[in-house]
Amino acid sequence: MHVVVLGAGTMGHGIAQVSAMAGHDVWLRDIEREFVDDGLDAIEANLQGGVERDKVTEDEKAATLDRITGTTSLEDAVGDADIVIEAVPEQMEIKQETFEDVESHVADDAIIASNTSSLSLTEIASALDRPDRAVGLHFFNPVHIMELVEIVVAEQTSDRTVQRAHEFVEGIDRTPVEVTDSPGFASSRLGVALGVEAMRMVQEGVASPEDIDAAMELGYNHPQGPIALGDVVGLDVRLDILEHLREELGERFRPPQILKRKVRAGKLGKKTGEGFYVWEDGEIVGTSGDWGGE
Ligand code: NAD
Repeated sequence: MHVVVLGAGTMGHGIAQVSAMAGHDVWLRDIEREFVDDGLDAIEANLQGGVERDKVTEDEKAATLDRITGTTSLEDAVGDADIVIEAVPEQMEIKQETFEDVESHVADDAIIASNTSSLSLTEIASALDRPDRAVGLHFFNPVHIMELVEIVVAEQTSDRTVQRAHEFVEGIDRTPVEVTDSPGFASSRLGVALGVEAMRMVQEGVASPEDIDAAMELGYNHPQGPIALGDVVGLDVRLDILEHLREELGERFRPPQILKRKVRAGKLGKKTGEGFYVWEDGEIVGTSGDWGGE
């Protein structure tokens, strides 16, 4: 298959890598040569890590890299595409423009997919003359490690496109779940629901962040508790998602005051060194002093 990935950033390079590892010919396109090269370097580094951990052989690494062509030309990249997956910035205007550009160069039967994590796929797809071939393929970071792909079905997506999306995802050794296009899809909506309730519990003084996280890690086998995960994702990102979900789905997603206070204070989690926890060198070293109840 001829797979095209648009955007060579955090997600794009990973999607290109797993597609090439499955034997597809891959074109990776970004707007500047420098970004394309950064993406290709990141793929090589991931594969080298795999070789060092005995997960990938030297031959597989070489063959995978051989199957990926980097380019800045959209026209060259998408000409013979069977599937085009965009992983460009999360803005409706950029997504719609990208879909429109792609449609003007691809064959009629090519699938046009978006890796959006929060925008309405139905709205992105409305930029196409033939929106029945649009689908969401929501990969998770880091793509070469994470097994899940949400297949997001827009109002306009045809059954045939959904079926081909399943075949593609299974073919690259990932596990699909199918979700109707709706705010937060399945994963973010549920993940954020757990996270927001955990924050309310901290706010009400029900338990400390450590004890809430330990309850989910030890009692439910979550690899990381909801409070620590919020710090890792970024509390500003969590707040944005909550505000979006509140607008779309109602008051149950109302951001708690404790989260707003942290964000206003610049305590955004791991990336700023403090959120609900205090972080040093990427590790939790303590709890932020002000967790106590209202
Ligand atoms: P990123 O900023 O790391 O990469 C985006 C890349 O797209 C950049 O290299 C940029 O130069 C390039 N770009 C911009 N306009 C372009 C165009 N017209 N054509 C080709 N490339 C273009 O972003 P990211 O984190 O990889 O996110 C990409 C998409 O994936 C977003 O929709 C995001 O919501 C989604 N997503 C991100 C994550 C995550 O954890 N980062 C997880 C799931 C989904």
